[in-house]
Amino acid sequence: MLGPVLLAASRSDRMHRLVSRAPVTRPVVDRFIAGDSLPEALEAVQALAAQGIEVTLDHLGEDITDADQARRNRDAYLTLLEALGGEGLGGRAEVSVKLSAFGQSLPGGHDLALAGARRVCEAAAAIGTTVTLDMEDHTTVDSTLAILAELRRDFPQTGAVLQAYLLRTEDDARALAVEGSRVRLVKGAYKEPASVAYQSKRDVDLAYARCLRILMAGDGYPMIGSHDPRMIELAVRLAERYGRSVRTYEFQMLYGIRAAEQHRLAAEGRRVRAYVPYGADWYGYFMRRLAERPANLAFFLRSFTTR
Ligand code: FAD
Repeated sequence: MLGPVLLAASRSDRMHRLVSRAPVTRPVVDRFIAGDSLPEALEAVQALAAQGIEVTLDHLGEDITDADQARRNRDAYLTLLEALGGEGLGGRAEVSVKLSAFGQSLPGGHDLALAGARRVCEAAAAIGTTVTLDMEDHTTVDSTLAILAELRRDFPQTGAVLQAYLLRTEDDARALAVEGSRVRLVKGAYKEPASVAYQSKRDVDLAYARCLRILMAGDGYPMIGSHDPRMIELAVRLAERYGRSVRTYEFQMLYGIRAAEQHRLAAEGRRVRAYVPYGADWYGYFMRRLAERPANLAFFLRSFTTR
């Protein structure tokens, strides 16, 4: 019930100011965000690498309003990739980008976002790693998949995210279940209307299972972006059924969520990647995490009473 309210709040400037300024917010935010700065993020990457967990880094920033911000966000990724190369982490760390942070929703935004993402792909390739394009609300999917197709001509390792809650996604999964293609399958984190997305948890879960089957049966590299024990179990069974070795797919979970499960899978010799967000612009990301799970909201609210 609260999920849609929190998702609406994630787009509200007033709530943004209220939540960001509350002194009790920070410890709760720290559970989900690796820090405001690059050194803090690199520390988190090193700690995860020592535990056998790979990472994809997200420099937080989305829904920007001018081209200068787009350039600053792009430059933050270039600095990040340089630092990862300097620390010899290119083999264990890739980056995830939100094209809205590169100006996708501004006038002429498709080309602006493509140009920004291309620079980041070049920098990633230079240190032997790659980029995954996050997926945002449904109005951006066509543009994001078109940008993916463009980027894959020069950087075939570029990945994308598909959201199982969208009615279109089974078709997109079929189109992307091809040799060389990297697809992170997630359930979907935005508030979407019934005209484009399944609304009940049961329907979303069933859609996730169908899309997972398509990707695991295909020739691409599936990235199972879920904390759901049933989806993880299904992925393991499908890998057996389709004769996939552990290097031909991977599990992905968010930083700070089900860490014990991340360790369990890694200890079984499976490939696990944590999605590590960092940066000062954490509000939208944080609110989506609260919306996903009432227990996270309760944890947040409790911190107001137990200072
Ligand atoms: P759910 O059915 O939501 O949860 C299953 C179980 O997982 C829960 O019972 C609980 O035990 C645990 N769990 C789930 N969420 C939380 C939480 N927040 N805190 C604590 N425990 C939790 N969405 C997009 O729309 N676009 C993206 O680009 C995108 N990228 C993602 C990248 C990664 C690596 C991951 C893991 C998720 C990403 N998401 C993205 C978010 C995704 O769409 C879901 O909102 C989120 O993963 C919750 O769905 P779930 O599959 O974990 O299952």
